[in-house]
Amino acid sequence: MTAMDSALKVNRGVPQPPDINPRAGDILKKRPGKKLDVPDFLDGIRNGDISILAQSITLIESTLEQDRRKARKLVSACLPLSGNSIRIGITGVPGVGKSTFIEAFGKHITSEGHKLAVLAIDPSSERSKGSILGDKTRMETLANNPMAFIRPSPSSGSLGGVARKTRETVILCEAAGFDTIFIETVGVGQSETAVHSMTDFFLLLMLSGAGDGLQGIKRGIMEMSDLLVIHKADGTNVEKALLAQSLYQGALDLFPPAPSGWKSPALTASSVEGKGLDKIAECIADYMKLTRENGYFRKKRSEQAVYWMRESIDDFLLSRFYGNTTIKKILPEVERKVREGETDSFHAASELLNLL
Ligand code: GDP
Repeated sequence: MTAMDSALKVNRGVPQPPDINPRAGDILKKRPGKKLDVPDFLDGIRNGDISILAQSITLIESTLEQDRRKARKLVSACLPLSGNSIRIGITGVPGVGKSTFIEAFGKHITSEGHKLAVLAIDPSSERSKGSILGDKTRMETLANNPMAFIRPSPSSGSLGGVARKTRETVILCEAAGFDTIFIETVGVGQSETAVHSMTDFFLLLMLSGAGDGLQGIKRGIMEMSDLLVIHKADGTNVEKALLAQSLYQGALDLFPPAPSGWKSPALTASSVEGKGLDKIAECIADYMKLTRENGYFRKKRSEQAVYWMRESIDDFLLSRFYGNTTIKKILPEVERKVREGETDSFHAASELLNLL
């Protein structure tokens, strides 16, 4: 066989690619295993390098003390670059269509030129392993969208720990140039309060006519929502959705006026048909305009900063206490004594705290 018969023959006049991938240098630099330092992470984040951003988040999620130290430095360095985004919390019971909605609304937002990061808080993920919010096959279209970055919930520890990591992740994503952040959570537990405390706008997805009025959503969650969306308003559901919309609007109108000066509306939407998404975007823009003008936006963010300082202290003290080797060793025995009435709870607690 001559060289000209080969499928690998070189056509004259056709420019040939270089022997080595011109991006090899970059790829090698970022190869897993190479230890990056805080300035490398910071540079990568500044340049909007998604692979470095992902590695930085892994650093934040690490429980190793040396990683924690690096992560703290990195977050501090990113703080001045952060803050320029709209942070939106999205909640609703499983099955309400959160991931479908985030795909559809995310597409809408990115098509308007925004860079979107989707994060999640799902404290149940460690227990259930297959995290409800962590499944990578969800949001496939968005995952392939160069304007979007998706990160499942950190899967370790208490709600406080998971929430702190997500809050730090928000800072890194903003420093990397993401101007819209979605934080998703399941509307059944306490995680809404955590998400509410790190977002500017809180969106609650509901279904029409699913039996009991509030579908397991606590009144408090409805009260903290800035927008209620009756989802899956398509096909034979449209009429029911409109009815639910007016019922929920009635319920929302009964809540006392919010300190933001905002009156939460109820809207309908279908992610499958892409209906109602522009109204939702408009509503969020109206909220931002109002709260930026009346000062509530800044006030809420400053209050949240103080809240997170306190949460970080709590989280730090708790992990120091329970991570202390002496305490770890004697805790089961002290617990036994308390259980059997040999010592009282308060005395035991103060003895243990004295060991710190
Ligand atoms: P999640 O558990 O809240 O994340 O819900 P999913 O996004 O996984 O959706 C649950 C089910 O609802 C899926 O079968 C979706 O196809 C369906 N679904 C989601 N959005 C819509 C919608 O706008 N209209 C209709 N008819 N079905 C939807």
